[in-house]
Amino acid sequence: MKIITAVFGGSSPDLASCPKSAQPEFALIGRSNVGKSSLINMLTRSEGLAKVSQVPGKTQLINFFTINNAWNLVDLPGYGFAKVGKKGRRGFSEFVSDYLRNRPNLLGTFVLIDSRLSPQDLDLEFLHWMVSSGLAFILVFTKTDSLSKQAARKNIEAFLDRMREITEEPPSHVLSSSRDGLGRSAILDLIDAALSEQSGTPA
Ligand code: GDP
Repeated sequence: MKIITAVFGGSSPDLASCPKSAQPEFALIGRSNVGKSSLINMLTRSEGLAKVSQVPGKTQLINFFTINNAWNLVDLPGYGFAKVGKKGRRGFSEFVSDYLRNRPNLLGTFVLIDSRLSPQDLDLEFLHWMVSSGLAFILVFTKTDSLSKQAARKNIEAFLDRMREITEEPPSHVLSSSRDGLGRSAILDLIDAALSEQSGTPA
């Protein structure tokens, strides 16, 4: 998959105001500071397309990026900051769950996990919600450049181990680093395959 154009397509505060685009969409979600904006910039090779946040948890909008005039990358608000509100222990907003459950053109969801950390309850709680809602996802372990291969592997194995408490199906996963580009082609290949499958043409 070659990315020729990547254009910011606007922000929405709720599902109702999301663009009525019929283009296939791929969403990215994870804890604030997990490296979501950096990953979007790395995938699109557009420095500064998604703002790399200095204030964690600030963005509470769904941001749309149109790629090659053909599909959208969707930046969902990070979860896991107390400021998100008293509303739920879940730590992510109603409109994120609304979007994930009800967006008709959503074709895939990437859940980002920080490979530097041991398994975090917030991530596991979110994934538990995804599984119990019947929503499919691919895990992306971010920031693998900032620790040794063995240390990253240890955290990733521990995380996948904890996932067994949530689902019998071992989740697909990708290792990434926005610093050195690791995971870029794997993620774009997954998107390419999903697009081809949807349109009925071989990848
Ligand atoms: P977001 O809040 O999930 O959008 O995270 P950002 O993309 O804004 O990144 C949060 C912080 O992590 C920033 O200081 C980034 O420079 C840093 N970061 C993001 N991705 C990587 C990565 O792949 N490797 C390293 N070492 N740092 C990263």
